[in-house]
Amino acid sequence: MRLHDIDIPPGASSVLIVDLDAITHNYRQIQAQAPTAEVGVSIKSDAYGLGAAKIAPALAAIGCKTFFVATAVEGANLRPALPDAEIVILNGPDPDTAPLFGKHGLTPALNSLMQIEVWRAAAGDPSAKPAYLHLDTGMSRLGLSNTEIDQLCADPTLLNGIEVTVVMSHLACADELKSPLNAQQRERLLAAAAKLSALTGAVRTSLANSAGVYLGTDYHLDMVRAGASIYGLDFFDQKLSSMQQVVHLFAKILQVRDIDKPATVGYGAAHRIGGPRRIATLATGYGDGYLRTAGRLSATDKRPTATTFIDGIAAPVVGRVSMDLLTVDVSGVPEAAAQPGNYAELIGDHFSADDLADVAGTIGYEVLTRLGQRHHRIYRGGDSV
Ligand SMILES: *Cc1c(COP(=O)(O)O)cnc(C)c1O
Repeated sequence: MRLHDIDIPPGASSVLIVDLDAITHNYRQIQAQAPTAEVGVSIKSDAYGLGAAKIAPALAAIGCKTFFVATAVEGANLRPALPDAEIVILNGPDPDTAPLFGKHGLTPALNSLMQIEVWRAAAGDPSAKPAYLHLDTGMSRLGLSNTEIDQLCADPTLLNGIEVTVVMSHLACADELKSPLNAQQRERLLAAAAKLSALTGAVRTSLANSAGVYLGTDYHLDMVRAGASIYGLDFFDQKLSSMQQVVHLFAKILQVRDIDKPATVGYGAAHRIGGPRRIATLATGYGDGYLRTAGRLSATDKRPTATTFIDGIAAPVVGRVSMDLLTVDVSGVPEAAAQPGNYAELIGDHFSADDLADVAGTIGYEVLTRLGQRHHRIYRGGDSV
């Protein structure tokens, strides 16, 4: 994607473009991959930092019916954007947040006997209150333990007033195709779901996140819960060719300098220049979520650094990333392109959020959720919204 055909306000130091058409494309790809399952979408943490209030309606408009967030407050805030969809709260209810569920029509994932108790107490009206049951099958994070599942089966009255619609669990190693834990977790979920449905009537099951979808049809069950792949992340390091790039981040070139004598660049003199080089300073830094570890941390740091692109030509990050600035070597970029006022691509078709994560020592999820509030945000496509 190039910036030439996009309307940028003159003051924008950096521009974050979120491609809603790519998001709906990726949703349809996941649906094609798991044709017999419902595809629910994780929009927690503001849709991985990309803007849930814009993204969720675009997905609802093409048929997505179920959305997952972490907290009741997130769910309450998104209700106006999603008047008809099911909003599932993964962290479940507690006595403080329980009133929000009724007020905003939120569905809890119940993660413990304690949360089941909270939800039963909140069931003021006689009609059964829908809920997901989340079972811990190998994460030791959220979800009912085996002991709690046995207690529940021994005393089904604990579920009085609750309508369990989906029994779910979460894969620990979905991005490792060969991990034996995947099949074990699947067996544990299906065994527990069979026991529970004998008590409560038929329940639907859900296990796979984005990576889990690619473990095969055995893992699709009744519903998959996709997040990362919808936002264009690639968890297998193999560039899933059917997915489209969603995020494009550009930063303005503030200054370009020719350096012809030995010199150092940036804090800590972490980058040394011997011969003649051109260095450009860009208006984005770690304060905008461009991770500091994407640059060189010291003169002895030999890790690869991130690469930016100016008119499609590589300009590698040199020196330390500052709070508001980063420096790139534009010696290989034609002078006409590497000019103050032009924009460099920091994330996009040439260098993805996953690529940035790789050099920074993290995952694409963290790169996206840290994208800062100073970027001027533009949403493209999603015409039906
Ligand atoms: C975040 C989350 C998902 C989505 O995971 P992705 O890897 O982003 O597809 C699914 N299920 C649960 C329980 C989650 O917390």
